[in-house]
Amino acid sequence: MIDFSPEEAFREFRTVVLENVPHADIERIRRAFDYAVEAHGDQKRKDGSPYVTHTIAAATIAAQLGMDDEGVIAALLHDVLEDTPVKHEELAAAFGDEVAEIVEGVTKLTRVQYSTVEEAQMENLRKMLIAMAKDIRVIMIKLADRLHNMRTMEFQTPDKQLSKSRETMDIYAPIAHRLGMERLKDELEDLSLLYLDPVGYQEITRTLDQRSEIMQKFIVDMEARIENRMQEEGIQCKVYGRLKHLYSIYRKMYTQNLSMEEIFDLCAFRVIVDDLADCYNVLGIIHEMFRPVPGRFKDYISTPKPNGYQSLHTTVIGADGIPFEVQIRTIAMHMTAEYGVAAHWKYKSGPAGHKTGDEEKFAWIRQLLEKQQDSDATDFCHDLKVDMFDDEVFVFTPNGDVKSLPAGATPIDFAYAIHSAVGNRMTGAKVNGRIVPISCKLQNGDIVDIITSNSSAGPSRDWLNIAQSGEARSKIKQWFKREKRDDNIRRGLAMFEAEAKRIGLSMADMEDPELQPYILNRLAVREIDDIYASIGYGGMTAAHAAGRIRDELIRRNAPPRKTELERIQEKAERRQSQEEHQHSRTKSIEGVLVEGLDNFLVKFARCCTPVPGDPIIGYITRGLGISIHREDCVNHKRDANNEKDAGRWIRVSWAEQTNEYYPAELRLVSGNCGTFVMDVATTLNSLNARVRSFSARDNGKGVTVAVVLLDVHDRDELQGIINRLQGIRDLKEIVRSGSPEK
Ligand code: MN
Repeated sequence: MIDFSPEEAFREFRTVVLENVPHADIERIRRAFDYAVEAHGDQKRKDGSPYVTHTIAAATIAAQLGMDDEGVIAALLHDVLEDTPVKHEELAAAFGDEVAEIVEGVTKLTRVQYSTVEEAQMENLRKMLIAMAKDIRVIMIKLADRLHNMRTMEFQTPDKQLSKSRETMDIYAPIAHRLGMERLKDELEDLSLLYLDPVGYQEITRTLDQRSEIMQKFIVDMEARIENRMQEEGIQCKVYGRLKHLYSIYRKMYTQNLSMEEIFDLCAFRVIVDDLADCYNVLGIIHEMFRPVPGRFKDYISTPKPNGYQSLHTTVIGADGIPFEVQIRTIAMHMTAEYGVAAHWKYKSGPAGHKTGDEEKFAWIRQLLEKQQDSDATDFCHDLKVDMFDDEVFVFTPNGDVKSLPAGATPIDFAYAIHSAVGNRMTGAKVNGRIVPISCKLQNGDIVDIITSNSSAGPSRDWLNIAQSGEARSKIKQWFKREKRDDNIRRGLAMFEAEAKRIGLSMADMEDPELQPYILNRLAVREIDDIYASIGYGGMTAAHAAGRIRDELIRRNAPPRKTELERIQEKAERRQSQEEHQHSRTKSIEGVLVEGLDNFLVKFARCCTPVPGDPIIGYITRGLGISIHREDCVNHKRDANNEKDAGRWIRVSWAEQTNEYYPAELRLVSGNCGTFVMDVATTLNSLNARVRSFSARDNGKGVTVAVVLLDVHDRDELQGIINRLQGIRDLKEIVRSGSPEK
C-alpha cells in the first residue's frame, strides 16, 4: 500500500502551479483538487497507488506546459466523467461550463477506439481527433494524460504496453509535433521506443552511456567556448548543449542504416539571444569559429515551419572532428519551439484577457493542422501529397476504418463512399448502434453501419438533395441512368419517332450505317441508343435531337425523303426558326459561347485549364461535346496543323457572365528541395487561394516539381497568384500547365 497524503500532494502541486501558471486562482484549483480526490475515492491504479495520483500528475504536466486555470482544473478532473458517477451537469455547476466542456472533450477522445486502424488511415485519425477536440486545451490535456500513462507504463501488461506505445508513436507524438510541443513529443517518442524496440533502445542508451563522459565534457567545453566568444563580440546570449533525444538517433540509425559511430551529430546546441538581429550575427560568428557542413544551413526565421517554429539551423565541425548542430533563436522563438501552442499561455500576462485572441489563434492552429502534412522539409519533398479540404467530418466504419466526408455528410454519403453497391442497396442506417434517419448529419467519431437489402428498390430521387458529396450524387445519378436505361430508350424512341415523323425525318436514315457516324458525331454520343436514352431520361428533347440530325443530313447532302407538302412545311419552319434564332442571343454554357450553338456539352481541357480572360478555342470531341482549350495550348498548336482534324477546331468565346470558379493548374519547378514545398504551401495559404489539389515530387536529381490545381475567377486573379509565387526563394520556373515551352 502506497502512502498518499492529499495535503502533501497538494503542497507539491501548488508549487508547480505557482511557478508556471501566472495569476493562478489557487483557491479554485484547491477546490478542484479536493473534488478529484473525493470523486475517485478508493479507485486504484495498476501499481496500487490511488487513482487520483494520475490526474494530479496529468495536471502537473498541464501546469508545466503553462496552461491556464481552466486547463489545469480540467486536467485534475479529466477522468471524473469517464471513471466516476459524476455527471456533466454537476461538473458544470461546480466549476463552470468551460471546464465541463473541456472534460467532456477529453472523455470523448478517450472513448475513440484506434486498435484496428490501419497505417494508411492514421492521418485521417489524427485529423479526426483534432477536429473532435474543438478546443485545443482538450488535446493538450489528452497529451498530458498520455504522457503520464507512458511514464507509468511499466505496471501494465506487455500487450497493453505494446498497443499503447504503438498508439502513442502513431497518433499522439505526431499531434504533439504539429502543435510544436517538441519537448513533450520527444519524451513520448522515447518512452514508446522503450516498449516497441527494447533492444534498440538499450543499444543506444548503452553506447551513449559509454560515451557519456566524453560527450558531457565536449558539451560543457563547447558551451563555454561559444559563450565566451560571443561575450567578446558584445553579444548577450545563453548556450545550452544537449544530447539529441533517443528516438531521433534511433530513427537515423534505422532509416539511414547507420551505426551509432556514423551518426553525424549526436549533440545539439542552442544559442538563445535577445533579439532577431543577433541571431544572424551569432550565425556569422559560429561559421567563423567552426567549419560549416555544406547544405545543412536552414533559415526557419525568414520562413517559419508551418507549426510556427522559428530558428536558424546549421551544422558545423568542431576542432576534434566532431560535428554538431547549432540552433540559434530568440527567447520568444525558443518558447514556441519548446511549448508550441502552449507557449502563448506561458507568455500571457493578464488573467482573463485571452478569450477573443485565443479563438483566433485556435482557428489558425486548426487550419494549420489540417493543411500541414509534415513539417520536416526533407521528408516533405519526397512523398508529399496534400489535399486541402476546408470542411471534413471523420467517421468510423463498423470495422474501425476511418472515412473522411464533407462536413454535413449523411449516411447516404457514407454508404456511397464505401461502395456504390452499398449505397444502391441501402435501406437504413445505424449511428453508434442506433437506427437513424438516413438524412441525419454525421458527427466526428460516429460509428456508422449501413443496413442493406438485396430486395431494395434502389436509391430514391430525394437522395440527390440530401447527399452532400459529389461522389454520392454522381453515383446516384449513374444508377438512375443505368438502371432505367432500357425504359428510357423505349420511351425516348417513341418520343423521337413522333418528332421525326413531324419534321419529315426518316427512321430508316437513323439505321443507315453510312449516315450513323455523322449523326453520332453531331450529337456527341457513342451510339444511337444514347440519343433515345437521353431523350427518355430528360437530358435532351426529342425536338432538339431530331432537328440536329435533320440539319446534319441536309448538310451531308442526304436530304431526307419527304413529301412535297412536308418539304414546304419544313421550309416555313426553318425560316421561322432562323428568325427566332436571330432574335435570341446564343446561350452560354458554363460561361462559354459557341457561335450558332445553344445546346452543347462543354468541358474544360485538363491539359491547359483555361480561365476567363484567356483566349480560347473549342475542339469538337468524338462523343464528349466540345472541349475548351487555351489558344496557346501545346495540344492545340500541334493539332491545328494536322489536316485531318483541323476542321474540328471551332471558334468559341467567353460569355459576359461566367461561372464563379474555374480550375487552373500551375507547375512550379525548384532546383533546391529545402523549404520550397512548404514555401509554396505557406504562400498559397496566405493568399487564401482555393487549392483543389497540391502535389510535389522530387525527381531525385535535386529538382522538385510542384503541381497545384486552383480554383480562380479569371486570368487576373491567377496572374496575381503567380506574381506572389514568383517571390519564392529557389523558384526556377512557374508555368501554367499546357503552355508552350519557351
Ligand atoms: Mn487519464
